[in-house]
Amino acid sequence: MKPCFVGVDLGGTNIRAAVATSASTFANHVAERTPAQDGADAVCDAMASAILKAADGAPLGGVAIGVPGPLSPEKGVVFAAPHLKGWTEVPLVKMMEDRLQCPVAIQNDAHLAGYGEWTAGAGKGVRTMVFITISTGVGGALVLDGKLWSGVTGTAGEIGHTPLGPNDPPCAQGHPGCLEGSASGTAIARKGREAVANGMETRLRNVPTDEIDAEAVEMAARAGDAVSIQIYRDAARALGRMLGGIINLINPKLIVIGGGLIQAHELIFQPMLDAVSEMAFAVPGKDTEIVIAGLGTDAGLVGAVAWAMHEFGSVETSSAVVTHSS
Ligand SMILES: [Zn+2]
Repeated sequence: MKPCFVGVDLGGTNIRAAVATSASTFANHVAERTPAQDGADAVCDAMASAILKAADGAPLGGVAIGVPGPLSPEKGVVFAAPHLKGWTEVPLVKMMEDRLQCPVAIQNDAHLAGYGEWTAGAGKGVRTMVFITISTGVGGALVLDGKLWSGVTGTAGEIGHTPLGPNDPPCAQGHPGCLEGSASGTAIARKGREAVANGMETRLRNVPTDEIDAEAVEMAARAGDAVSIQIYRDAARALGRMLGGIINLINPKLIVIGGGLIQAHELIFQPMLDAVSEMAFAVPGKDTEIVIAGLGTDAGLVGAVAWAMHEFGSVETSSAVVTHSS
């Protein structure tokens, strides 16, 4: 039997695994709950079980895992994973290679989601693109001249942790005036609760405080609530200005935006585009395309499968099929 290559998308809620059928397509999709509260050994056992189920008896040629936290692909160590209890300095590659007896590679989950969009989604065929995912937090990935750029220590792409004004709100990591403190699902929810606490005239007063999340603010905004619309506009403006800075820094062909929050198209995507020109130079600003991601929630799994093929597969990989340099 030919060896198979498995991609894994490890999330705080679910483990998803699948076998590569090409450089960017998969089969045998297996999904299981993540034992997130039970420590690294339990999560590794659950991943190994999902991987073997996906492999369905075929020998393992290699496995790539997308992990929700900063890590070193080179050392095979996850520095931290905020949604997984007890994950500090976890030697994940060794733990999984011991269980599977095959080579294992790890990458940050946002990096692999961006890699998935590049190999099979909105970024297909482009040599330089930036991927940004906007949901509870803000993450990203850089594909530079046909290669995923992980950075020197593996932690590049943390677009959510770029500076706003020093007196703007901090992010959950405590950086003062950090983008995630103003323009993430968490920030939007917090601003909604603050508006109620400050006695502002808003529909959110009808929502129990602990139920005010980004979605509740979105619903209020769609119903015409001026305070909620402004909360989204402020977040969109901060994001758009950040995109302008990225355009100036990287000069990409394409910026692909994913994540749950961006689905609120007229509330956030369009006002975000409108703010890009506050920061971006006219050239390259007008030459940079900004589009919504194409793979939705599959981006991480497609990216993991593609990365397994890139690292261990014997067929031509995605970078070899790029046909034009734009
Ligand atoms: Zn931060």
